[in-house]
Amino acid sequence: LENLTKVFTDAKSKSETRAVDDMTITIPSGKLVGLLGPSGCGKSTTLYMIAGLLNPTGGKIFFGEDDVTDLAPEKRGIGLVFQNYALYPHMTIRQNIMFPLENLKVPKEEAKALTLEMAKLVGIEDQLDKKPGQLSGGQQQRVAIARALVKKPKVLLLDEPLSNLDARLRLQTREEIKRIQRETGITTIFVTHDQEEAMSISDEIVLMEKGVVKQIGGPQEVYENP
Ligand code: ADP
Ligand code: ADP
Repeated sequence: LENLTKVFTDAKSKSETRAVDDMTITIPSGKLVGLLGPSGCGKSTTLYMIAGLLNPTGGKIFFGEDDVTDLAPEKRGIGLVFQNYALYPHMTIRQNIMFPLENLKVPKEEAKALTLEMAKLVGIEDQLDKKPGQLSGGQQQRVAIARALVKKPKVLLLDEPLSNLDARLRLQTREEIKRIQRETGITTIFVTHDQEEAMSISDEIVLMEKGVVKQIGGPQEVYENP
């Protein structure tokens, strides 16, 4: 991210919010990076700009050497997971995971094989014929991760993926996310306001405050010099 900036202007009062202010950081590829900071500090805004769902006011976004700042979201090669899973309730788990491939017109047999591969990766292969409502929150979040990964994206973006889970499932799912990231080696950004969560899961932490990066470092470094 190079001088990435997002200013929201209120239509009525014309007052400005600098949600992300001149942010320049490098996310190491193949790592799990925790984007940590209090509510309202600009984490989601940063994530949505990386995903292409929000246009920056200024600055650039690179994936490796490629400038993706003006690229459409579906061309960026990202998988996105929200805090509320956002699964389709009327579809089976299988259909949910397969859905992104149908839009890409991937041949049926290949799509089925990929769906099974992802279901196994996240450990829900025996739940494929159920509907989301029949699964626990933790299982639903794993389905959302499988759906995000089925297109084999370069980058996985997780926006507070554990905050709707109870304490036990939160710990379990956190370990699962860590394992999935290690197994796939996918570059992952994990947004959270929970310091303990970020510390336990991240290879590296980007600490934000009021739209700016306060600190970048390993979990221990950030913990010792907050
Ligand atoms: P976080 O994810 O860290 O909680 P956000 O990125 O959601 O923070 O928000 C950062 C700041 O930008 C906050 O002050 C928030 O109110 C403001 N903001 C976010 N989205 C919008 C928007 N669509 N319109 C106006 N202000 C926004
Ligand atoms: P989070 O739980 O990730 O911090 P927020 O509550 O900050 O999420 O934001 C949720 C959604 O609402 C985001 O899409 C964000 O852009 C939007 N949003 C946040 N603050 C504002 C605001 N002041 N005005 C309009 N939209 C906002």
